[in-house]
Amino acid sequence: MSNLDAALATLVDPSLAPIVEMALVRRDGAYEAHAVDGSVRFRRHDPDGGPDGPGPARGWTFTVESVDGRNPLGDQSLDRFAGLDAELAHRFPDRTANAYPFAYEQVAQLFDHPNAPDVCVVHTAAHHWADQGGHIGEHGSLGAVQCRAPFLISGPGARADGVVGGVAAQMVDIAPTVLALLGRDPSVLEGADGRPIEGVLDRAAIDAGEGPEHVVGFLLDGCNPNVLLDAVAAGDAPNIAGLLARGTALRDGIVSSLPTVTLPNHTTVITGRHPGHHGILHNAWWDRSRREQVITNSPETWATAMDALLPGTDSIHLAVQRTEPGAFTASVNEPADHGASFSTFDLMRRGVRMVDFPRTADGLPHSSEMFVRPVKDYALFTQVDHHGTEQAVGIISGSYLGTEYPMPRFLWVNYALTDSAFHEGGPHSEIARASIRDTDGRIGEVLAALERRGVRERTTVFLCADHGMEESDPAVGGDWSPALAAAGLDVRDEAFGFLYIDP
Ligand SMILES: [Zn+2]
Repeated sequence: MSNLDAALATLVDPSLAPIVEMALVRRDGAYEAHAVDGSVRFRRHDPDGGPDGPGPARGWTFTVESVDGRNPLGDQSLDRFAGLDAELAHRFPDRTANAYPFAYEQVAQLFDHPNAPDVCVVHTAAHHWADQGGHIGEHGSLGAVQCRAPFLISGPGARADGVVGGVAAQMVDIAPTVLALLGRDPSVLEGADGRPIEGVLDRAAIDAGEGPEHVVGFLLDGCNPNVLLDAVAAGDAPNIAGLLARGTALRDGIVSSLPTVTLPNHTTVITGRHPGHHGILHNAWWDRSRREQVITNSPETWATAMDALLPGTDSIHLAVQRTEPGAFTASVNEPADHGASFSTFDLMRRGVRMVDFPRTADGLPHSSEMFVRPVKDYALFTQVDHHGTEQAVGIISGSYLGTEYPMPRFLWVNYALTDSAFHEGGPHSEIARASIRDTDGRIGEVLAALERRGVRERTTVFLCADHGMEESDPAVGGDWSPALAAAGLDVRDEAFGFLYIDP
């Protein structure tokens, strides 16, 4: 038995079934998913690059070669557990109850990366990373709740349909959608895996030249869309409610790319490419040729994370500037800042001192005091997000830290508080709800700045997250590493679940 087969046999052993949903591999040009109760082997066909070409995912088709037992990826329903009631009624869903939207595409794109793992372990919905400093709220898997991020859009060129279901949308679709809004041919974006989300676009208005002059995007890291839409309906997010009243939100959300974690998907939003195609494979991974660990998602490496992009990777910023010489774009508090004219992390790379960073969260506007005081991370990300708001408001107003800026054609604002709070208490906690209230207040400040600048009516605003967030079960802990070691295997596990065998 090969070491790969030995690893798979270990991972699908019934003893690990509570924590291992499935294990994914690429073998002999085909893809396999293995679970305790069955497996599937499938093949990709690419109309552009021939069979199994790594080209853009648009137009990929898949054929199932064999199924043994239950197909672990057989249920790809988009609307599973959509809506807060459905999610609360199915906490810790079993593998036979869960769904995996776009599963075949999710698997295939991952293994296009030159440093893709030998095995990608997908953890169960319930799995709690207790031994790894885990949290109540978790994400990272292919399951419906963990991959589902919110998407809401409002303004010229966008439909005003309220909350709509049945729209199939992926994180890779956001960048082409932004370009379509701005009247660009989305195909100017090199290598994009996605396409414009027609279900949210007002094509007649765009074609008539009545689309927006500016697009502002907000990312609420780790914000569960069921919880966000419930907060909007309950009056906890009046500014976002105001956007929705004149816009469209997707009930089934937008499907983030595997691995459904932070930096790969921030980069996916900006590039329109899956992680396997833009290069930011995970928050950490193993570089086989250089024989070293790559860590992109840490305070020490955020500013230089984009060095790991695959050559030739495009972005919204670059495409906007290419199609409109001199166009100004801005990226606030966002490590995935590839090509932005203004970027917070570019200031940091150049050693500019952030003299306006608040010394303390105490007394800052839009900060829930009951969590700022006792929860260290809540205080820290309140400071970070307040600082992001100050930057966005400054740029929109025309001046920040003594430098003058034009109104950005595309402005991107990354908010981190929601992720921290949703991890801390889980998506259904009071701290998560407070983080939505606080972030909504900050979004209100940015919208007010657009109003003062006189561009509010000519600006389309959208809001998304980078991945979902699911409540884990603290009773379902543990790790697969001891079992792999007991089987005599030499395995490197990067970022929990990317296995490199005999590294
Ligand atoms: Zn995140």
